[in-house]
Amino acid sequence: MRPDGRMAVFGLTGGIGSGKTEVGRVMALAGIPVIDADRISRVQAARGGPAFDGMVGEFGDDIVGPDGEIDREALAGIVFRAPDRLAALNRITHGLVMDEVNRRLGLLADMGKRAVMVEAALLVETGWDSDMDGLVVVTAPRETRIERVVKRDGVGADDVKRRIDAQMSQDDKAKRARWIIGNDSGLDELRRASIEVVVAIAMEGTL
Ligand code: ATP
Repeated sequence: MRPDGRMAVFGLTGGIGSGKTEVGRVMALAGIPVIDADRISRVQAARGGPAFDGMVGEFGDDIVGPDGEIDREALAGIVFRAPDRLAALNRITHGLVMDEVNRRLGLLADMGKRAVMVEAALLVETGWDSDMDGLVVVTAPRETRIERVVKRDGVGADDVKRRIDAQMSQDDKAKRARWIIGNDSGLDELRRASIEVVVAIAMEGTL
């Protein structure tokens, strides 16, 4: 909780494949509610969700796969090659995601939670982090991130490189961080580093 009695809101971010989802999982297990904004965005983009029609209107039926859902690879192929197309996608999705995150923050505050973590890939790019009480940035070497995403998603390395290059550099994100978690060794080490941040938050009296 902050000195003024309001619930503290922290941000958790990092580039693709940095390990932020793993960190969020540990923090949730350690007792901090974690709102996964990227997951909300995926749910909103599902057929029938509030972002679906806007996305198909902007990018055409070519981004709809045979199952009737947005073909994420087709969409990524468009937006990660052209910054203006990525900006168009963000214009459709960001407001909707922020509304839902804010709705959940309100519920958690009403429940009397003292601290929450909002996990999102684009916290710094959107300037959202400046309204927060502290930012956790997860970093990892570029080659490691590429290897992890290729293994996790079964996509090509060139695809992952394009996505990394379309994102803000992790060094620039790290400049905004209150806590930097360097995820360049094993999962045990990552979990230990995540718990250290939870302890730091708890020591401030926000947990
Ligand atoms: P994205 O932005 O693509 O969602 P992310 O930052 O959330 O990525 P994760 O999904 O947490 O990244 O991690 C990417 C993959 O690498 C996952 O399969 C995860 O289990 C694995 N991973 C993360 N950290 C490590 C590690 N230290 N050792 C081994 N595997 C790891």
